[in-house]
Amino acid sequence: MNAILIGPQGVGKGTQGEIVAPRLRLARVVSGDLLRAAIKSGSELGKKAHEYMNRGALVPDELVIGLVVERMRDIANAKPPLAGSLFDGFPRNRAQAERLDQALQGIGEQIDRVIDLDAPRAILIARVTERLTCGNCGTIYNVRTKPPHVEGVCDVCGSTDLRQRSDDTVEALAERLRLYDEQTQPLLAYYRERGIVREINGDAPIDLVTQQILTALS
Ligand code: AMP
Repeated sequence: MNAILIGPQGVGKGTQGEIVAPRLRLARVVSGDLLRAAIKSGSELGKKAHEYMNRGALVPDELVIGLVVERMRDIANAKPPLAGSLFDGFPRNRAQAERLDQALQGIGEQIDRVIDLDAPRAILIARVTERLTCGNCGTIYNVRTKPPHVEGVCDVCGSTDLRQRSDDTVEALAERLRLYDEQTQPLLAYYRERGIVREINGDAPIDLVTQQILTALS
């Protein structure tokens, strides 16, 4: 099973991916996390990606695709084998979607399901600007609705580096949402032609959204 979570920033793709992927033995392929790890490692690719990300622009396709293909190779070799992949943040435009199809075809696989997760804009803006991310392991919190158990300490890794992402500002978010409408949302039509898209309302309690995603992926 290879599935994609498509949805605007703040709709809950990261939160749901963290919950759903282990339950279905899927590996998460989160392009934003791969890019942030590249930045943290100080690699040349990370340096190039950094300035695009800070202003909410898309990182050039060849940089992102290279990271995703490398991650897919690692997943294919994972021991014990995984049941598939759950993509989040990738593909973000038509060129990336076509490249993903090619890469999957190369290993005899395909995209089986696309989850279209959506919520009203005002909710997305509130969620993103209230979001805290662990600088060490990437776990996502919301200061109001999903705070860490101990203030300022990551539940998962114990790091005290909980902070607002540099692109979770009002300005960068506006640009990211604009790019979502322009380039990513139209991808749904590309997958709808194959009859594999399931629509889920992301403006609902976390547990309910999880149940609906699990049903759509089973
Ligand atoms: P995200 O964590 O998915 O919100 O991604 C954060 C930032 O990483 C985006 O605003 C882009 O700058 C960059 N990024 C993540 N995924 C992609 C992608 N598939 N293509 C281009 N840029 C990406």
